[in-house]
Amino acid sequence: MGFRRTTRVVVTGATVAAVVTMAAVAQAAPGDPGQPRYEAGPEGVGDPYFPLAGNGGIDVLHYALDLDYLPPDPDPAPLEGTLAGVATIELRATADLDQFNLDLRGLDVESVVVDGKAMAHSQTDNELIITPRPKLKAGHDATVVIAYGGTTIRPEDIEGALYGWVTTRDGAMVVSEPDGSATWFPVNDHPTDKSSYEFAITVPEGLVAVANGNLVGSSTDAGSTTWHWDAPDPMAAYLATATVGDFVLDSYVAENGTPIIDAVDPALPASRSANLAKTGAMLTFFEELYGPYPFVSYGAIVDDDSVGYALETQTRSFFSRNASEGTVAHELAHQWMGNHVSPAQWSDIWLNEGWATYSSWMWSENVGGPTAQQSFDATMARDASSSYWAIIVADPGPYGLFSGPVYTRGAATLHALRGEIGDDAFFDLAKQWVIEYGGGTASTDDFQALAESVSGQDLDAFFTIWVRTGSKPTSW
Ligand SMILES: [Zn+2]
Repeated sequence: MGFRRTTRVVVTGATVAAVVTMAAVAQAAPGDPGQPRYEAGPEGVGDPYFPLAGNGGIDVLHYALDLDYLPPDPDPAPLEGTLAGVATIELRATADLDQFNLDLRGLDVESVVVDGKAMAHSQTDNELIITPRPKLKAGHDATVVIAYGGTTIRPEDIEGALYGWVTTRDGAMVVSEPDGSATWFPVNDHPTDKSSYEFAITVPEGLVAVANGNLVGSSTDAGSTTWHWDAPDPMAAYLATATVGDFVLDSYVAENGTPIIDAVDPALPASRSANLAKTGAMLTFFEELYGPYPFVSYGAIVDDDSVGYALETQTRSFFSRNASEGTVAHELAHQWMGNHVSPAQWSDIWLNEGWATYSSWMWSENVGGPTAQQSFDATMARDASSSYWAIIVADPGPYGLFSGPVYTRGAATLHALRGEIGDDAFFDLAKQWVIEYGGGTASTDDFQALAESVSGQDLDAFFTIWVRTGSKPTSW
């Protein structure tokens, strides 16, 4: 969320003396009623799956990322690039802080400046620890400028999948779910802190840097091109991208009015990106189901290297080597379901993947392919003894985030819910979900409560059977 209810302290010339006095009193008698109790912001936001993800005590409002990137020398390998960044972060203290953290992994910080003054800082494996002086009172808006950099590699998540700033032969694939943004910028790396972003990405002339939102422009000087992107919509950090490579940009306006920018690697056969032409029709289809497209723009990146999956990077979905029709639909539907409404904790991931998978089932039915009912039947045809049913969809564990049941049992749950409450209530629920929680985050409990409110039914038994139990539902 961009804003929380905190008291803002406005320091003007006339009040400086009073503020100085208050600070002196606070340090002389910490803990007196009405005086700040300065503390260190926690090193995580409290997500049990990823204890170090995000940071307590701060709310980032805006990131301006100025990145200078040199891809590897193509021959000989190793696939290692060089990244130098300056992150200008506007943040609000949500507690009285004498120390706070940002997440950063594998890159070295040169300097930290808070409100114009150089600050002490230190680093551990995942944390950049900043000690602001003067200390930050709750409600204070600070500008934090961090110069950092280092060698980029091909990082892996806890399951061994490539993620984060993944160095490629001609650039980098940047896809960071769930906690990989810390491999490329200092960040409050949890969906509960959404922010606006802007990017200035400088790469060797001839390469293209593709980020979220709108392309503001590019300029070339002395063999380098700087690409400027503006992403004003609130965005969870894992959905930010700054993908670099050989790309051809294709801009057009979809039937619903959404500006589209696709970036396709020309090394790929045209057939690998042909399904992107269906984006306009899909936008119209999903707007009917979920309401207006929530962001300033859309588009795709199709790279000739692979992380082994596609990701719904906000406003610009990423595809590894191929954009199949079902995956194009899946990643587009995520813009409403996952990106605009994001998981409150990572255990709520089925609300992303179940909705996106169910969306591709409905798209298939819409274009004369297998119906949603047929996809549901295929899922439910698995034998009750299969280990498939053992995963608890609403609590799959950090190693089960992207397991099959989170996607297909999640989608089957939505289809069963549609049967339980009827089409009118189900699609009303979908729209209300986006209206109620768009721009923020929501949990499985929130979803159940809204489903009960919209349908007027007690759905506790339903949700227990479908998403909170590690066995096959026996009836539907
Ligand atoms: Zn997905």
